[in-house]
Amino acid sequence: MNLRACLFALLFASFPSLAEPLLAIVGASVVHPERDSGPAVDADQTVIIAGDRIVAVGPVKSTRVPRGAARIEGKGKWIVPGLVDAHVHFFQSGNLYTRPDGADFNAYMPYAKENERNRARLPVTFKLWLASGVTSVVDIGGPFWNFEVREMARKSDAAPRVVVAGPLVSMVDRVKLDLGDPPIVKTTTVTEVVDLVRREIDRKADYIKVWFIYRPGDDLAAQEALVKAAGDSAHAAGIPLAVHATELVTAKAALRAGADFLVHSVEDAPVDDEFIALMKKNQALYCPTLFVTMGYQYAFSNTWKATEIEKRRADPQILAVMGDLDKIPKEAIPERVQARMANPPQVKPSQTMLDNLKKVWDAGIPVAMGTDAGNVGTLHGPSVFREMELMTQAGLTPLQVLRSATVNGAKAMRMERDIGVVATGRLADLVILDADPTVSVANLARAHRVIKAGHVYSPDELMRSIR
Ligand SMILES: [Zn+2]
Repeated sequence: MNLRACLFALLFASFPSLAEPLLAIVGASVVHPERDSGPAVDADQTVIIAGDRIVAVGPVKSTRVPRGAARIEGKGKWIVPGLVDAHVHFFQSGNLYTRPDGADFNAYMPYAKENERNRARLPVTFKLWLASGVTSVVDIGGPFWNFEVREMARKSDAAPRVVVAGPLVSMVDRVKLDLGDPPIVKTTTVTEVVDLVRREIDRKADYIKVWFIYRPGDDLAAQEALVKAAGDSAHAAGIPLAVHATELVTAKAALRAGADFLVHSVEDAPVDDEFIALMKKNQALYCPTLFVTMGYQYAFSNTWKATEIEKRRADPQILAVMGDLDKIPKEAIPERVQARMANPPQVKPSQTMLDNLKKVWDAGIPVAMGTDAGNVGTLHGPSVFREMELMTQAGLTPLQVLRSATVNGAKAMRMERDIGVVATGRLADLVILDADPTVSVANLARAHRVIKAGHVYSPDELMRSIR
């Protein structure tokens, strides 16, 4: 840097108002989910934002509001870090038609049309996330056009931060999802795995994701070798390995193979000491996704009902078709779905998953809140409130849930230095709430304003801008 540049840098560093728009939130309670001890809430705080960064957080009395700063009244409000959903899929909409491999409605709604809708709808879907206070999401697998989703989000005026995995390195085929750029690719040899992973590394994937599907009779050791091949290639490129492995044996195999992120709960058995030790050894993240299977059960038995917050924050296009089973001709409804409609299941969370979450949390493993949004019945945006409510049913306190959705979500985004807490020097991603989130996670749904990279959004206005 020459002397002149140096002087300029100094000038702008000491007088940010000369360079960047300033914002002051005055008199709010700031919530600090990152604190291990002491009070997690500081009352009567002022937060100063310059451009996309927080430049000061401190007591109202001693924190000067710079001249010219725009002002938001913070009295009676709570500030939390912007939420992170660590598990979403933009190629899926959450409606009945989005997973023909699970229930094939092609006779009524062609999957190609559904897929096209989801791609064209991305600007709206981005807004849904912001309107729910979610300022960052991890898209943990989809077609190669996922990399374009990330680019679109970067360039968009109203979008969360998006990191992505490309197509899933999979043990099994999902031919009904293959429209030429499949989200799930069956790979049976190390060469095939390495080839696919390399193509994703070329696109600067943020994660390599493996769909570890084990069925009785499969050779678990051979499968583990494929996961390891994916992990080794990813790690050589500095990219973390995410694995879908929902049984205790596959989850352990995934961890031995180098998994950095388990994107679902272990759901078939209680996690044991060996599992915990492997998680710790890898410093791996755990994403419980408690609601997603319930979403399928509700939707395919025609008992899915929007929650109050979903009525206000979900995509109206999706809400409008969630009750379609009432009007689809019977012959176009898959038999499996007809059977469920005739005999609706008692939908409740899996006790094993709840117990495992508590055990994993108590063992000190970082848990990242994630919904698996886009799957049938799990809607982009407000499904985070269903997920966080279920996490409290596992015995986590509202503050612990908030930590998983912020501090630990930042780890899932690989942005722990920049987001996840409200502190000087961090990116200005935060939510201003009308109610205390440490009393109830439901209060996280009461967003007054959502701020991402210093831009202020009104959730109601975001929703009004959606057609
Ligand atoms: Zn998923």
